[in-house]
Amino acid sequence: MKKHNFSAGPCILPQEVLKQASDAILNFNNDNLSLIEISHRSKPFVDVMDKAVELVKELLNVPKGYSVIFLQGGASMEFLMVPLNLMKINGKAAYTNTGAWAKKAIAEAKNLGDVTVVGDSSDTNYNYIPKGYEIPSDVDYFHCTSNNTIYGTQVKDFPNTPSLMVCDMSSDIFSRMVDISKFDIIYAGAQKNMGPAGTTLVIVKDEVLGKTGRNIPTMLDYNTHISKGSMFNTPPVFPIYVSMLTLQWLKDLGGVEVIEKVNQEKANLLYGEIDRNPLFEGTAAKEDRSNMNVCFLLNDSSKEDAFNTLWNDAGINGIKGHRSVGGYRASMYNAMPIESVQVLVDIMKKLEQN
Ligand SMILES: *Cc1c(COP(=O)(O)O)cnc(C)c1O
Repeated sequence: MKKHNFSAGPCILPQEVLKQASDAILNFNNDNLSLIEISHRSKPFVDVMDKAVELVKELLNVPKGYSVIFLQGGASMEFLMVPLNLMKINGKAAYTNTGAWAKKAIAEAKNLGDVTVVGDSSDTNYNYIPKGYEIPSDVDYFHCTSNNTIYGTQVKDFPNTPSLMVCDMSSDIFSRMVDISKFDIIYAGAQKNMGPAGTTLVIVKDEVLGKTGRNIPTMLDYNTHISKGSMFNTPPVFPIYVSMLTLQWLKDLGGVEVIEKVNQEKANLLYGEIDRNPLFEGTAAKEDRSNMNVCFLLNDSSKEDAFNTLWNDAGINGIKGHRSVGGYRASMYNAMPIESVQVLVDIMKKLEQN
């Protein structure tokens, strides 16, 4: 039987998507060829790319004037591409420092200009989302991380900014509705809520590009990939195909509004047990709790072995916390059924009763 997979990333994908993806590896489109041995410029694959872009636009209500592209290099490459494409020479940017990923994004921007950190939760190991900060009006852009995968915090209300707005949505894109028109660039590595590692989704407002005065290396220029429909060079065909299948699965379920409700139910179920059960304690500030990554501690370390045996025996995978937080982290991305969350809640109750 398939395990209850709470892995933080790469992570759970819908079972039917995995089945379709394996079929396509052997025989794609009934052409007796594998998806990964045909030209990316052949009609069957161009159709896949077009469909993937169309599904992103449809599921997120992407307004006119935005491009949707699939890149390589992970979200980590976007830490660098964002300042290269938006920061003027000797320019400025504002960042929130809400975790290890944000910190890496800040480090890349610092190579190119002046970075002001406007909100910083590093003082308490990133267990909350800073609020009420001011974004200077003379920055080229403001950058934030919507969901801090390692610490289990999530931005519930995005700030208004006088500048361009950029967001790393790697670990909660497609999990809830966001107003895309508030953002100028959104990026997300596929492997948290969309597909296998190997491609990064970027949604960019066309009019914000080409204004830095800088010579951007070809492969790092968003316009290169926009003008070639993500096919300037060979795209990662398999991750894009599987992402397309996952987005189709989401659309068939009813879309982002529907999954958002399910994600809220899953979060209520697990946080409810963490708050009720005296053996456990959540690590993130309550108002900032992530619906995707639930971080918690076991209060009584003498029960650790018993708990680990219980969840292992229940077929649960991937709930060990990140080394920088400790304890446990249950990641509940879109493809995780509520039944799996119930299995985890049941063993937490069982531990209390033992
Ligand atoms: C996982 C993750 C990243 C890093 O993604 P890569 O694709 O491995 O570069 C960046 N930001 C957030 C929020 C993440 O969860």
